[in-house]
Amino acid sequence: MGNIILTGDRPTGKLHLGHYVGSLRNRVRMQNEGNYDKMFVFLADAQALTDNFDNPEKVRDNIKEVALDYLAVGLDPEKCTIFIQSMIPELTELTFYYMNLVTIARLHRNPTVKSEIEQRGFEESIPAGFFTYPVSQTADITGFKANLVPVGEDQMPMLEQAREIVRKFNSIYGETLVEPEIVLPEDERCYRLVGIDGNAKMSKSLGNCIYLSDSEEEIKKKVFSMYTDPNHIKVDDPGKVEGNVVFTYLDIFCREDSFEKYLPEYKNLDELKEHYRRGGLGDMKIKKFLNDVLQEELKPIRERREKFAQDMDYVYDMLKKGTEEARKVAAETLHEVRAAMKINYFE
Ligand code: ATP
Ligand code: MG
Repeated sequence: MGNIILTGDRPTGKLHLGHYVGSLRNRVRMQNEGNYDKMFVFLADAQALTDNFDNPEKVRDNIKEVALDYLAVGLDPEKCTIFIQSMIPELTELTFYYMNLVTIARLHRNPTVKSEIEQRGFEESIPAGFFTYPVSQTADITGFKANLVPVGEDQMPMLEQAREIVRKFNSIYGETLVEPEIVLPEDERCYRLVGIDGNAKMSKSLGNCIYLSDSEEEIKKKVFSMYTDPNHIKVDDPGKVEGNVVFTYLDIFCREDSFEKYLPEYKNLDELKEHYRRGGLGDMKIKKFLNDVLQEELKPIRERREKFAQDMDYVYDMLKKGTEEARKVAAETLHEVRAAMKINYFE
């Protein structure tokens, strides 16, 4: 059997550079390489509701925003099926059966969920839906028999959980589900993009993002507010490159021709870093350079986004078609699951 690729994003905000380097770029690459049978990309609205249940407008509005981000980065509805999670009730049913295959103790051990609970201040009042979202994520993946899941590093525990559920299911009910594999970015530095404030992860919930849809002005403002080296006060002071967000981003986004185009007095990043370390290179200069590099990367994305935004009928039609197509596939899997679990009484 060929590859089946699947990934999704929570419609809790517009997509940002972290999504871009951590997952979106990989998806578009895989889509364009074409080495797969099917590719699914979905808006995880039901999952978004697990910690936004009291804010349904936010989730609804962001369906549109994330769909536009998808089209803007080059996901192509001709090549991949884009769908809305909650419109496929088969996934909810799978989740319910998988709940039997995990323990509360096992869910407690998930480090990503643990830190998200802390971040959201849930402590003793964790919504059960939020706590069990890794199980629902297993349904999303296995419902399409996906074997490849291109996501960021924070999703590693989810994939491990999914693999465990698959193994347990198959060992009890017979070989039915497919064990998925994580596809991390080729460049290890993209596993987890830091926020512009230097926080370990750029994340919607932390408000430290550069969004793919940000205007030229917004990008510039954010780049110039970036965390650098707090001890590099005067231009002549020696500066630190490690942990300096501007250099972290340059490491990721600088292209071969970036210096020639925007900063010809340096040959490459090593030379620039060396000068910064030595002292005599100001933050303004490196920020201006990063701004040029990021503007070049984001301009075409923003322009495509604006073009698609003018035809929202097309966008919703695309989502509707994708959802119908995806639902058929999930229904087939559910059919097999029910048969394996011996709850297909009328067949
Ligand atoms: P939220 O704060 O609502 O959880 P988020 O910004 O963490 O939002 P998600 O929708 O949870 O975004 O993540 C979607 C995908 O993007 C996942 O595959 C995740 O691994 C990846 N991703 C998110 N943030 C980053 C980041 N800073 N670096 C690398 N990958 C990321
Ligand atoms: Mg997240």
